[in-house]
Amino acid sequence: MEILSSLLPGSNAAPKLDQLPPEMLEFTLLKTTGALAPRLGRLAFPKRKNMLTPGFIGNTSRGVVPHISQDNFSKTLDINGVYVALEDYMEKLPQKTPPVLQQDGPEPLRNFIALPEETLLVLGPRRNPPIPSPLHSTNKEVGVLTSVGFKALSSDYYAAAARKLQPDIVVGLADIPFGKETIGIKRKDKMSDRTEAWTRDILAKKAQLDKDEPSWAIFAPILPIDRDLQSWYLEHLVDDMADNISGVAIYDAYLLDDLSEELHHLPRLSFHAPISPQEILRQVGLGMDIFTIPFVTDATDAGIALNFTFPAPPKDTTTSSRQDLGLDMWSDSHATSLTPLSEGCKCYACTKHHRAYIQHLLAAKEMLGWALIQIHNHAILSGFFAGIRASIEADTFDADFAAFERYYESALPEKTGQGPRVRGYQFRSEEHAKPEKKNQKVFTKYDEEKIAELRLAAAHGQQPGKKPEMRDVIDDEALVGLMGLNELDVDGARQVESLSLMDDAEKKE
Ligand SMILES: [Zn+2]
Repeated sequence: MEILSSLLPGSNAAPKLDQLPPEMLEFTLLKTTGALAPRLGRLAFPKRKNMLTPGFIGNTSRGVVPHISQDNFSKTLDINGVYVALEDYMEKLPQKTPPVLQQDGPEPLRNFIALPEETLLVLGPRRNPPIPSPLHSTNKEVGVLTSVGFKALSSDYYAAAARKLQPDIVVGLADIPFGKETIGIKRKDKMSDRTEAWTRDILAKKAQLDKDEPSWAIFAPILPIDRDLQSWYLEHLVDDMADNISGVAIYDAYLLDDLSEELHHLPRLSFHAPISPQEILRQVGLGMDIFTIPFVTDATDAGIALNFTFPAPPKDTTTSSRQDLGLDMWSDSHATSLTPLSEGCKCYACTKHHRAYIQHLLAAKEMLGWALIQIHNHAILSGFFAGIRASIEADTFDADFAAFERYYESALPEKTGQGPRVRGYQFRSEEHAKPEKKNQKVFTKYDEEKIAELRLAAAHGQQPGKKPEMRDVIDDEALVGLMGLNELDVDGARQVESLSLMDDAEKKE
């Protein structure tokens, strides 16, 4: 049985961490003013940095925070945890065992993604937000999107993968028909029944662990449907399973009202993706603890540098207009600006570079541009959450939230420029079927007219300068060289061939 402490303010009966068995997750409520109110907490897991809540964890894609290399993750981001989705690794299962499951040694998933030792690792079945799957759930499986298309993930398989991968926290498998506008009553009954069975499956798997085997904490999903429609599941969760779960995963923050009192002491991880900082504040106001925030990477991909603080600065009374939540770095207006992305920001991007440089990087499609904006955007978010915690501590959260809403626009700026190359998982399934290209070609062939023009220029000794005959010779030699390589390096060629095939397949997805 796990020891969980739910402490009211003033009490300090928390067991010392070093007295707990190694797998113990401890969540301490440092301040709470009642149900449906903001609260302060601390999440502790042996060997990992403590996380103060409300807070956020990095939302990864195939194990990395997009645009951030592993060394920059520790050097430049102030993040104490990451969320990783199993669907990113399933590949050609069951025909082929994915590489991550072939890893030996302790903590295979952490090693595979080169995650620092002190960072909390949370594993869930699906990305946040997930791409709706055309495969319907059955009593045993849910539809997921892998790197090679939609597949079914069974509850048994998920539990076995959790055991093998040894994350710190496993989010239980839930039957949620993502992307459906309306869900019938019968379907909701099934959601409740299946989620109940699957939560039992993962608990049973944990109970089977050998004594010396590393254990993990389980966060039980709470379905995004009314309480009475999932009552079968929730009753069993409270009556039979509550002692063995360490947290809850919330898919609809506005149903927090329905959460049984017996589960109030548990940390709440939000899978209700907020679309703006105001929506984060709204969820915090309802008592949410931990977030994964997909809009950060969306903003970065769009070339938008976030620019907001909590509490908001004092409002300028001479103007009635609200401030933007971010800067569109594609805008020419930054082309000669030597100021940092945000005045006063202490992040790597703001202390080393200016807006003009970052604008230039985007225009040149240099991936460093997105990396710098991503570093900055995470710094803005870290500061935002630190501000939220200070505000709850000072009992000024409601007033600060109201002032924030008055000061800032309610939505992030619209995307204007082109983002980095988009991937299959960035589309809803119906978009995959559309014939148009998802990524425009960066380099294209010159048309006949342009070639003739260049030839003429070359013949007159102008740029590009080289005599055309000589250039043809060089090109031919280069070609012969390549062909020779092809004949010699058959495996290499095959590899190139299969790579291009994969790329083609990706385009068709
Ligand atoms: Zn910055």
